[in-house]
Amino acid sequence: MLVTRFAPSPTGHLHLGSVYSAQFAWRLAREAGGRFLVRMEDIDQTRCKPEYADSILDDLAWLGLDWDGEVRVQSEHFDDYSEAMAKLVRRDLVYPCFCTRAEIAADIEAAGGAPQGPDGPIYPGTCQYLGCQEIRRHIAADRDPAFRIDMTRAVALTGRLTFHDHGRGQIACQPLHCGDVVVDRKDGKASYHLAATVDDAIQAVTLVTRGEDLLPSTDIHRVLQTLLDLPEPEYWHHGLLLGPDGKRLAKRNKSVSVPDLRAAGHSPAEILAMAEALAPAART
Ligand code: GLU
Repeated sequence: MLVTRFAPSPTGHLHLGSVYSAQFAWRLAREAGGRFLVRMEDIDQTRCKPEYADSILDDLAWLGLDWDGEVRVQSEHFDDYSEAMAKLVRRDLVYPCFCTRAEIAADIEAAGGAPQGPDGPIYPGTCQYLGCQEIRRHIAADRDPAFRIDMTRAVALTGRLTFHDHGRGQIACQPLHCGDVVVDRKDGKASYHLAATVDDAIQAVTLVTRGEDLLPSTDIHRVLQTLLDLPEPEYWHHGLLLGPDGKRLAKRNKSVSVPDLRAAGHSPAEILAMAEALAPAART
């Protein structure tokens, strides 16, 4: 059975871009007689707000994008991510990283720049081979580490990986282009990559649909799936909605927020049509 999902981060209201994404997953599930799930990706409590989560669910229901079963709220499932993290630790595939953002930026500048990965410039590997003494020194100085995956070591174990994208066909993963991404954050909570990978498996998602801005993240997710013995879903990365200025629609663009469009008197059908109309080459 086809199982799709919509996984918003409640850092703002639903907007036409996220309506498009939700509708994309919802329609595929409904057309196939499958299941459409919703997951709140609210791990980053500094940016996520419960009122946005409530507003997103209210707008989805009002738009008629009804979901199956309970909404999975990531902040209620930290044990699942810790379990996955423990597996990576046991396999010696992660290392602590004490760098601050400023230190990483300075190291990258000193090295004359770094290529861009899905989470920003690729980590220069400063903490990759820290000795016990250095780790103790950081801990004594009350510095909390993030944990990064050692991608070179991970790829040596997984071998070459691919994924199937419905719009693009079979794609060869290039996880080394992503560098040693964070899997566990300084606040002790799972990163998006780890949490989303674990959740897609727990929710038995068979088709991951999301914007093509997340294509590089899929390389990381395939590595994590393989290391954690999780099933491989299919993928469909859709094009991103562009505003009249040709730029990507963003949450900060108030004119496309669903609560504002609702308040202005637009019906659900009108709002769904507006999202569709802004999507050139919609399904690829
Ligand atoms: N939470 C992510 C976002 O709002 C989506 C992640 C995903 O679909 O995998 O951009």
